[in-house]
Order: sequence, then structure tokens, then C-alpha cells
Amino acid sequence: MAVPVAPGRVLPTLNEDGTHRWLRPKPAPGAWLTRRTVVAWLLIFIYVAIPHVFIGGKPTILLDLQRREFTFFGTTFLPTDTLLLMLLAISVVIAIFLASALAGRVWCGWACPQTVYMEFVYRPLERLFEGGPRGSTQIDRAGTWFHPRRFAKHVTYLVISSFLAHTFLAYFVGWDQVVHWVFGSPSAHPVGFTIVTITTIAMMLDFVYFREQTCMVACPYGRWQSALLDNDSLIVAYDYNRGEPRGLGKDRTGKGDCVDCEACVITCPTGIDIRNGLQMECIHCTQCMDACDAVMRKVGRPEGLIRYTSRAALAGKGKHFLRPRTVLYPIAFAIVFGGFVWQLTFKDAADVTLLGAAGAPFVVQQDGKVTNQLRIRIANRSGAEHAYTVEVTGADDVSVIAPMSPLSVRPGHTETMPVFVTLPRDEFDEGVRTVTVRVSDGASYAADFPYRLTGPIRESHDDDRKDRRNGPRE
Ligand code: SF4
Ligand code: SF4
Repeated sequence: MAVPVAPGRVLPTLNEDGTHRWLRPKPAPGAWLTRRTVVAWLLIFIYVAIPHVFIGGKPTILLDLQRREFTFFGTTFLPTDTLLLMLLAISVVIAIFLASALAGRVWCGWACPQTVYMEFVYRPLERLFEGGPRGSTQIDRAGTWFHPRRFAKHVTYLVISSFLAHTFLAYFVGWDQVVHWVFGSPSAHPVGFTIVTITTIAMMLDFVYFREQTCMVACPYGRWQSALLDNDSLIVAYDYNRGEPRGLGKDRTGKGDCVDCEACVITCPTGIDIRNGLQMECIHCTQCMDACDAVMRKVGRPEGLIRYTSRAALAGKGKHFLRPRTVLYPIAFAIVFGGFVWQLTFKDAADVTLLGAAGAPFVVQQDGKVTNQLRIRIANRSGAEHAYTVEVTGADDVSVIAPMSPLSVRPGHTETMPVFVTLPRDEFDEGVRTVTVRVSDGASYAADFPYRLTGPIRESHDDDRKDRRNGPRE
């Protein structure tokens, strides 16, 4: 059966017959590539270094899913810090909105891990092993399933992906644990082994096969652009007023500055022609800026035919820095992030939860007194180890037995201690008595919590109830 052919190119990475069109962009050296290389390697260094850097004895970032504790730059967030985490997450979202309104897809082109690793690790290695875009195309055309240079490239990709996957795992369990696991049997740590294996496979699939298609068809951020950008947002754009009508040849009479050399297309990692206007596939990587500037220098025209600008500026409408979204986003960010900082600064040094005992709510002792068992869960949110004690007040003749008091809790950790509170039976009213539980570390933390103890309902009350049910006695 004949394969249907599309009337035109649907995606830069698809041929008209639906087969994969491999992109082999030619690097375009220039000032922007130098700047991006510095930023990219700085980011890679930070990513690899973070699991080895400690602040105040804690990892810089540790996402301990098992214990549900997240440590960021010396501060540990516990499951009870929902408000803090929510404020932080909303701040990040607003910051992305603001960055997009001001600087377009600066994240995509300069800082996204997909771009950083693809353009500064995996693609340079491909050029090294396969001999540049021409060498890769020759290997593609050879149609052989095994080629020594491509095989060597894939083995190198595998080693790098595996290292990056182990580094990724270190963000969740710590580097020491990763090293311990690496030298142990996978059967002793199946979860860690599975995470590393899946991450390595995902990275291989992404950087060997899927590549720039991740930005075009998988990443939602590119699709938000129509909502996040406005006419005054900074974008990488072709100056059509200056460049058109484009044309080859030395005689430039009646022609614009674009010599139609296609250097900007050949270098584009997403395979688009920026002269067609702002496109979802453009990750604003600036490679076409370097390529075109080099051509402009050669033909003796000013640089910047492709440059950072805005659609409003290109249309001759000037620059408008102050606009609704550049005013509202910073205000929203200041409010939400200010709330986060406020909460973080003034949060309690401990998080205490009072829980009843499982099973019988109370026990009546032989002497008639009533004992309730509590469990007091203490999360130490300060930066030092503390010993917590418990007192109970608010009732006469109360006795407290807390076998684990004082309870030592390490910073960022949570411990639970049982407490037995005994009261005379007649302290209960309708089977309930509210007392005050005071938890203190003797230094930076002390707090009172009301707690309802339960006990037997007094017989006189039972009689009264019966009376009420049965009506007045004769
Ligand atoms: S059009 Fe230019 S800025 Fe956009 S992805 Fe291609 S090379 Fe990068
Ligand atoms: S690199 Fe510049 S001159 Fe060459 S085709 Fe692109 S825009 Fe035109």
C-alpha cells in the first residue's frame, strides 16, 4: 500500500512521508555561543556538585521521599509544611511567568536541562565521534545497523547518562548512599537500582532518538508561550523590515540585507527558519544570531539582522517595559514570596501533634482513677538537637507518666513518645475532661495544647439522663 504523503512539512523533524527527519545542526561560533557555553557548563557543574555540598551539616538539596522531608539550602521542609511548600511552588510559577513576559523563552534556550545537555554534551560528542553533520549524514545514508563510530558514540552516551542518573538519584538519597549501593548487589537496593536504570534508559531514548522533539511535542512550556508572551516580550527574531526582500548575489539593488544563505536554518537545533516569524519550535537558543552575524560581517552589513528584540519593536511601535503583566507579576511575586519568607522566618521551632492511643480510649484503674494514653509526635524544625519534656495541667490531682521524657529529637527529624495521664474519676464531666498539655525544649520552644481526655460517664448523670427520658419521678 502506498504511504500517504503530507502536502508539506508538518514538523521540522518529520519528512513528508512521516519518517524521522534527523537534524544535524552545524554549530555557529560567536559571542552568544561563548556566553551560552559558559552558562551551560556552570549549570552542569552546579548540578553535579550539589549532592556533595553541605550547608550547616545538611545537604544543599535532598528530596527524601521515604521520610517525606525536603531539604533546600539548609532548611528542611516536613510534610506539615504544606503552606510553605505551596507558597514556594506558586512563587516559582509566577517567577517563570515574569521571566517569560520579560525575556521570552530564556529558560528554554539557556537553562533547560534538555537544551543544556543536548547542545553542550551530547551533540558535541556526536560531532566528535561521527565527524560533524556531514559525517553523521553519511552514516545515516549507509543504512547499516552497526557502525563503529556510532557505536562508540552510543557507549559514551551510556556512560554519561548512567553517571547523570546516579547524580539524579543522589538528590533523593544522598551521594554516600549512592556510592554504597554502587558497590553492593542490586538485589540489596532494588528501588534505587530501578530508578537509576529507568533514568538512564529515559536519557538514552531522549538524547539518542527523541532529541529536539522533546521540546516540540512533549514539553508543555513551549505551548504556553502564546499565553505567556506578549508583543513586547523579548524574543529572538529576524528583522524582516531590514532583511526583505531577501536574495542572493552581490548586486543588492532593491534587496534587503538577507542574502538568503540559510546559515540560520542550517545551525538551528530545531530545524526551523526563523525568517518565517515567531514559531513554537523556536527555543531562543541564539545560534541563528551568531550564524547571521558572521554572514553580515562577511558581506559588510551591520550585525543584528537576527537579534533579541520584540514584535512591537520590529513593527516600529517602540519598547514598552511597563505593561499590565510586568506590573502585576512582580506584585504577585512579592506578595507570595514575601509570605513564604515570613512563614519561614517566624515558623515554630517544633511541630507537635497530639494523638490518642489506638484501641481502648481509657482504662479505669483498680483505685477508680482513669488513665488515658496519648502519643505526642514532635518534629524538630530547628537547626539543633533538643530534648522535649511534657507537662499536663488544668485538673486537680493529675499524674503523668512519660517513660521517654525528655525525648531527644535531632534537627529535621520526628519522634513520637507515649504519655499516660491519670485523673480521679470525678474530674470527668459527661465523660470528658479537657486538660492542657505543655511541650517544651527548655530553650527555644514551649507551647500549650488543649486535649480532651475521655473517661466513664458518671452514674448520677446516667440516672439524670434516664430521668429526663422517663419523665419526673412520682
Ligand atoms: S530559530 Fe534561532 S533561536 Fe530559534 S531555535 Fe532556531 S537557532 Fe535557536
Ligand atoms: S543567516 Fe542571515 S543572511 Fe543568511 S539566510 Fe539567515 S537571515 Fe538571511
